[in-house]
Amino acid sequence: MPEALNQAVQDARRLKQRDDNPNAPSRVWSEEEVIDGETHRALTVILRTRGCTWAIRGGCSMCGYVNDSFVKKITADHLVRQFETALSQFSDHSVIKLYTSGSFLDDTEVPIEAQQRIADMVPEQVVRFQSEAQAHHVTKERLSDIVNRLPTNCQLAFGIGMEASTPEVLEHSVNNEFTIQDYHEAARVADEEGAYLKCYVLVKPPFLTENEAIVEAVETAKRVAGTPALEAISFNPVSVHKNTLVEELFRSGDYSPPWLWSVVDVLERVSSFVDVQVHSDVVAGGQARGAHNCGACDEDVLRAIDAHKKTGDASVFERVSCSCREVWKEQLALEGLGFAGGGLASSFREAAGSKKARSGFETWYQA
Ligand code: SF4
Ligand SMILES: [Zn+2]
Repeated sequence: MPEALNQAVQDARRLKQRDDNPNAPSRVWSEEEVIDGETHRALTVILRTRGCTWAIRGGCSMCGYVNDSFVKKITADHLVRQFETALSQFSDHSVIKLYTSGSFLDDTEVPIEAQQRIADMVPEQVVRFQSEAQAHHVTKERLSDIVNRLPTNCQLAFGIGMEASTPEVLEHSVNNEFTIQDYHEAARVADEEGAYLKCYVLVKPPFLTENEAIVEAVETAKRVAGTPALEAISFNPVSVHKNTLVEELFRSGDYSPPWLWSVVDVLERVSSFVDVQVHSDVVAGGQARGAHNCGACDEDVLRAIDAHKKTGDASVFERVSCSCREVWKEQLALEGLGFAGGGLASSFREAAGSKKARSGFETWYQA
């Protein structure tokens, strides 16, 4: 892990402890979820934890989820009470989606006692319990413990933020702490335990040209396609979160979110070779801080991306067009000739080299 990049990411964080009620979840809502063609009521809960351990040590260059975390010690009792509060607000749900904005299987963030008590509390009628984890936290021990505590007919699924897969991109752009090998091991373990995985992949982490970003997203899909337990690949176009290195680069003119045409290109290419669900959730689509095109066609393209998510039919993209698609193609061509930005290596040296060093890391976090 390059020290200068991690330092730059940590400098941008401006971590702040929160004084909110530790017994109340961050957000709870009820929504529809279609599983194997059947419509279910899904209870979605965002637990407020101490924060993603990796984010507090520096973390991924584009991720600002830790802005909503407590950034101080949160006990197993607190987390269990948050889940109880969420369960008491709604009834009759057959799907539970429980997110932490970090890794549910990281016992620093969610103590094992909390993981166990939450799994024990999942009501009998729930057919699917879905959460999120970092790949290296998906171990046989943790999965089998949770599977044994869930109701007998309840599927277990985890979203894994793989983000990218080329070692140089993970190291010098995303600043992720795990590798594609960790993902493959998580897939093997999940398969053995009868659990499912959804793989999240970024479109355009920092320091990549538009071209490099498209290639990296497609290559990452190739590297996870066909792995066991995989049920979906979800592409996340990078949006500019507060207090992140990406925000600093955005402000200094060194980062712009991807074109929506790049997202469409990735979805079209990947849909042609994978046999699992492929889709994209565009955050802040059409806005300066999210994936966008010229402004005139953004809504149409976003609608097509949404329609593709619902139907899986990539031909919806044939029905959207705009003159700005030619501008996008020209940019890709110019980048290929080296005329439009330096790409990963040169941009990184320039941006990360200018960040001042910061002393110490809050040792309370390990307490
Ligand atoms: S993307 Fe995931 S692992 Fe990376 S900092 Fe954010 S929550 Fe942590
Ligand atoms: Zn346009």
